[in-house]
Amino acid sequence: MISISNLHKKFGKNEVLKGINIQVDKGDVISILGPSGSGKTTLLRCLNYLERPDEGIITIDNVTIDSKKVHKKDIYHLRKKSAMVFQSYNLFQHKTVLQNVMEGLVVVQKVNVKEAREIALEMLKKVGLEQKVDAYPLQLSGGQQQRVGIARALALNPEVILFDEPTSALDPELVGEVLDVIRKISREGITMIIVTHEMNFAREVSNRVIFMDGGVVVEEGVPNDIFRTPKEDRTKQFLKRMT
Ligand code: ADP
Repeated sequence: MISISNLHKKFGKNEVLKGINIQVDKGDVISILGPSGSGKTTLLRCLNYLERPDEGIITIDNVTIDSKKVHKKDIYHLRKKSAMVFQSYNLFQHKTVLQNVMEGLVVVQKVNVKEAREIALEMLKKVGLEQKVDAYPLQLSGGQQQRVGIARALALNPEVILFDEPTSALDPELVGEVLDVIRKISREGITMIIVTHEMNFAREVSNRVIFMDGGVVVEEGVPNDIFRTPKEDRTKQFLKRMT
């Protein structure tokens, strides 16, 4: 359902992605692991053209964009296929929890307000925040704010949810509640790509793990193989440091 083919991205002279190829099936939960600076976030951002690749072809569902011939309309269609959960939540501070979750539905998807409200309430219930619909982000803990971010992504009913280190800004005691929510929605068959440093979580929740280093995919496979019997030295060293 998702195909990433020969993806390249440079920032100035710094080549951050050096020809990435990844295939994702519908319902896959894929964890992307790798040292800081290996290009994981850039890869996610290229998938919705928040970053424009220098080269490569991206397909999500029935939308394909070749970086060599991009039309504005294609970017719009591609962005509708995914929703991103950011490390730093990226909520509107002056809007309530409910308004934050409704925003994309009303403004981007042109869903009417009544229906958007119903969808938003349902998703907030799913992440356990039905008591907080009228609160503002700053009245919530980091874990609760991130759960709003997840509800907002779910509300858009995307083909794929892209998680960019969803727990790395959280105090340790708040990580569990966010991972619990991601674990729960992973069982619903939603396709997910998760950049994470939570090794145990990646091992448990994903059906495939991709290890990146230096802008390339070094190794990929089922969690048991990658964690128990990694083939590449770079993977072995990284896992040794992380576990
Ligand atoms: P990771 O998510 O694996 O930590 P990133 O994709 O965030 O890696 O970053 C990879 C490299 O790209 C880093 O060297 C980073 O400094 C650089 N980089 C990322 N975004 C930008 C940007 N907008 N401008 C310049 N350099 C960037």
